[in-house]
Amino acid sequence: MKIVISDYAWPNIDIEKDFFKSKSIELDVANGKEDLLNKIKDADGLLFCFEDINEDVLRSGEKLKVAQRYGIGVDNINIKVATELGIVVSNIPDYCIDEVSDHALSLLLAINRMILPDSRMVKLGKWNEVKKENRVYRLKDATLGVIGFGRIGRRLSNKAKSLGLNVIAYDPYIREKVYDGVNILSFEEVISSSDILSLHVPLTDETNHLISHKELANMKNDVILINVSRGGLIDEKALLDYLDNGRVRGVGLDVMEDHNPSSSNPLFKYENVIITPHTAFFSQESSEELQLRSCKQLFDVLNGKKPEFLINPDVLNHSEVNLN
Ligand code: NAD
Repeated sequence: MKIVISDYAWPNIDIEKDFFKSKSIELDVANGKEDLLNKIKDADGLLFCFEDINEDVLRSGEKLKVAQRYGIGVDNINIKVATELGIVVSNIPDYCIDEVSDHALSLLLAINRMILPDSRMVKLGKWNEVKKENRVYRLKDATLGVIGFGRIGRRLSNKAKSLGLNVIAYDPYIREKVYDGVNILSFEEVISSSDILSLHVPLTDETNHLISHKELANMKNDVILINVSRGGLIDEKALLDYLDNGRVRGVGLDVMEDHNPSSSNPLFKYENVIITPHTAFFSQESSEELQLRSCKQLFDVLNGKKPEFLINPDVLNHSEVNLN
C-alpha cells in the first residue's frame, strides 16, 4: 500500500513517517501539483491540507480509496467527483476549536485595542503623537455577532461572554431562539446590530460572498469584521470600498479569497487590517493531534472501517466501497 501527502503546514511529518512505517506502508510526499498528479497514480490513500484536490487529481488516483483532509473545512476537494469514483472523504472536525476561537479573539482584541498601529508609532519614536482618534469599544458595552454557531462559533461566544461582550448569533440550522445561552436572531438582525462580527461558517455555494455590498451597507459604522473561516465568505472587492469610505473600523483575517496572495494585494495597504496566513488552527498540540488522528482515520478506511468523520456518506452506496 502507498499513501501520498499532497501538502502540510507544520515543520515535519515525523508522526506520519513513524505511523506508516509501523504499518509497513510506503509514504510519499508530493512537491507541487504536477508531482501530485504523478505520485497519486498508484496511491491507495491521500492526506491533504490546503492543496486543491480537484477532478484531475482525483481521476489520476486510479487506485485511490480515501482522501483524508488534514483539517475541518472540505471546500478544497471535489466531493461530488470523489463520491462518483468511490473515494471516501473524511476530516477531523474537532481538533482545533480552542486555537481557532483564540485566534478570532486575538484579532478582535488587537484591532479594538489598536495594538499594531500604536506599537508602530512607539517604534517610530512617536510615543507622544498617538491621538486616540479611532473608535475603541468598551467590551462590556459592545455586541459581538457570531455568524455560524457551530463548534468554533460557540467556543468563541463563551470566551467573549467572559470578557463581558453581549453575544448574539445567526445560524439557519439552529431552531431554538436561545442556544447555549445566546440569542439566535435573523441574519439581518445580527448584521445590523453588531459592533463586532465574526464569521464561523463553512464555505459552500450558499455561503460564498456571504458578506458583500448589501451586508456591508447594513452594518453599523465602525464595525470590526473577523474572518478566520474561509476567504470566499467575504467579497473582498466590496470590503475594499467600505475600508476606503471609512465605514469599517477594522478587519481581522486568517483567510483570504486568494490563498497565495501577492505582496501587491490591495488589502495589505490598510493599517486597520490584520492578516495572518491561515494559521488559526495551529498549536503544537493541535497539529500533533491532527497528524496522528488523520493517519489513524485513513488507515482505518484502508482496513475496511467506516471513518468516524465521513464527509460523503453516499460513497457507501458505491459498488466498490465496502466499509463496516
Ligand atoms: P461547524 O460545522 O461546527 O459549524 C459551522 C456552523 O455554520 C454550523 O453550526 C452550521 O449550521 C452553520 N452554517 C452553515 N451554513 C450557514 C449559513 N449559511 N449561515 C450561517 N451559519 C451557517 O464548524 P466549525 O468547527 O465551527 O468551523 C467553521 C469553519 O471554520 C470551518 O468550516 C472551516 O472553514 C473554518 N476553520 C478555519 C480554520 C483556520 O485555521 N483558519 C481551522 C478550522 C476551521
